[in-house]
Amino acid sequence: METLIPIINRLQEVFLTVGAEIIQLPQIVVVGSQSSGKSSVLESLVGRDFLPRGSGIVTRRPLVLQLVNVPPLAERRLQENGIKADEWGTFLHSKNQIFTDFLEIRKEIEEETERSSGGNKGISPEPIYLKIFSPHVLNLTLVDLPGITKVPVGDQPEDIEAQVQEMILSFISNPNSLILSVSPANSDLATSDSLKLAREVDPDGRRTLLVVSKLDLMDAGTDALEVLLGRVIPVRLGIVGVVNRSQHDINTQKSIEDTARDEQAFLQRHYPSLASRCGSRYLARTLSRLLMHHIRDCLPELKRRVTVLSAQYQARLSSYGQPVEDHSATLLQIVTKFASDYCNTIEGTATHIQTSELCGGARICYIFHETFGRTLQSIDPLGGLTELDILTAIRNATGPRPALFVPEISFELLVKRQIKRLEEPSLRCVELVHEELQRIIQHCSSYSTQELLRFPKLHDSIVEVVTSLLRKRLPITNDMVHNLVQIELAYINTKHPDFTDAAQVSASVNSQQGLQDGDKCWMNEKVAEEKAPVAGFRSPVKGQAINLLDTAVPVSRKLSAREQRDCEVIQRLIKCYFLIVRKSIQDSVPKTVMHFLVNFVKERLQSELVGQLYKQNLLQGLLIESQDTAQQRTEVAQMLEALQKASNIISEIRETHLW
Ligand code: GDP
Ligand code: MG
Repeated sequence: METLIPIINRLQEVFLTVGAEIIQLPQIVVVGSQSSGKSSVLESLVGRDFLPRGSGIVTRRPLVLQLVNVPPLAERRLQENGIKADEWGTFLHSKNQIFTDFLEIRKEIEEETERSSGGNKGISPEPIYLKIFSPHVLNLTLVDLPGITKVPVGDQPEDIEAQVQEMILSFISNPNSLILSVSPANSDLATSDSLKLAREVDPDGRRTLLVVSKLDLMDAGTDALEVLLGRVIPVRLGIVGVVNRSQHDINTQKSIEDTARDEQAFLQRHYPSLASRCGSRYLARTLSRLLMHHIRDCLPELKRRVTVLSAQYQARLSSYGQPVEDHSATLLQIVTKFASDYCNTIEGTATHIQTSELCGGARICYIFHETFGRTLQSIDPLGGLTELDILTAIRNATGPRPALFVPEISFELLVKRQIKRLEEPSLRCVELVHEELQRIIQHCSSYSTQELLRFPKLHDSIVEVVTSLLRKRLPITNDMVHNLVQIELAYINTKHPDFTDAAQVSASVNSQQGLQDGDKCWMNEKVAEEKAPVAGFRSPVKGQAINLLDTAVPVSRKLSAREQRDCEVIQRLIKCYFLIVRKSIQDSVPKTVMHFLVNFVKERLQSELVGQLYKQNLLQGLLIESQDTAQQRTEVAQMLEALQKASNIISEIRETHLW
């Protein structure tokens, strides 16, 4: 059983490196009336002289004292912590300060007590946390508490008794606490407040140990034999008598060794039959035995926790990815993954599909059909074209010749003017798609390609390469779209099959107005003729002409009926032709954008990225991990290693000690 201690120490050491409080060791809480010797008992357990002791209320705040077993200085590699002492202490409230002088520790406890509970005997429930590192201690947590007191003194509140009791109860009600009830031998055990409190939280006495202090101070002729034998009050876990240092011993700085020797001598002399079951050393052994039982009880649960935690940390570790070993392969893999994520987002086959907003291909589709489509639809074919504009154009086109017919050139002129209006929204469409392609980069680098977050440089470079590829394609696509409109402007195809219908309509306008057969028509007569039966158009219309007899159209006067008609004809023709062109532009702009921008980038992305980034001299630099990732991985890896070691240690215990 005793061999468990070093094993448990190893276990704790393993976790010490990663700072995990994984194994909940029992804390030993000392309870007793004021000046019963609580601090003295704790001190003899630690084997060092560092707790403030004395008469009156000395301990005024809970002191949580964590003993940590460390290898002796000689076995410790100095660089491990740089502390050149066997034993040292640290406080939670001043973490960076290392105390190697135990007198300083006592002073610090005293000062820290003053700081929060005031100078005049006030108490405070706020614990002081002290860690003592030493090769001579067991890993234990001890709690020193203010003594039970009845009458307020100094700044103490009226309800001091209730306050202290509450403080004590808060510590001893923890089922993990072992209660060390300290009662001086020179007072009546039957009235011991500490035992009474202990009973409240531990009625079965499973975790209460009675310590009878001050055996040396009993009245002449009396002894504590009956008490120590458990005949006065039985205590299940045992009753241990001790002799601590008296105030005089403290004042004369009697050494721990001398104290221990004298204690043994005293016990041999006065309680020979019980000497082997009394004294501070026996108390320490008893505590460690109780500790062992506790550990044994905890082991199955501990093993389970270690297993669960190992799995959790393993999962976290894999989420950080492995440290880069093969730079080329890693880069290729990430770049390929990015490129395919990018394409998948466009195709709509990405694994991380957004639900909050349209993205990628779906958004491009929206841009084509909703944004662009609707904008084109909303363009009025005759927008910005007044009747006077039309008449002026007609007249200007006629030139000095007397105008008999509506000149074709005026229609061309006017319809071109309208067609030009399609260019701006078309270019805007390219711009929107370009923006979306740019957004997909962000989307892919933050959602899909988790690994990219590990490598900020690579991330930036990928963004840069894709951005510049997109930027390079932008003018080419814009030119193409510009050309689409230019192409439409280059040739007004009045023979367009859909346009002949309009020709008929215009002819019908003229026919209603009684224009003569045989007048020159600038439209395709043949087509009109062919189309006629289908359109229900009567053949006499063949050869209808649009002519213009009036030559002067003053800008501000009311239009004549004839002018009105001419205008209408031109308007209808423009409208019809414009709709044809608009339909074609609405169809060809998305195709152009897809071909010259979207698909091009999709196809070239991978090779462009590889070409720009896969260079031996760049690899190292690109694959430098972000500080965060590197550090987190190290921490998690350390924890995992600790857990694995712990798991091994636990199985060792299983095999050799307990089962
Ligand atoms: P606490 O208030 O319960 O923490 O008690 P302390 O540990 O501060 O001790 C109060 C006083 O009793 C100190 O002066 C100690 O030296 C003295 N004292 C404690 N235990 C013993 C003991 O076993 N024998 C003698 N002679 N004095 C003791
Ligand atoms: Mg004390």
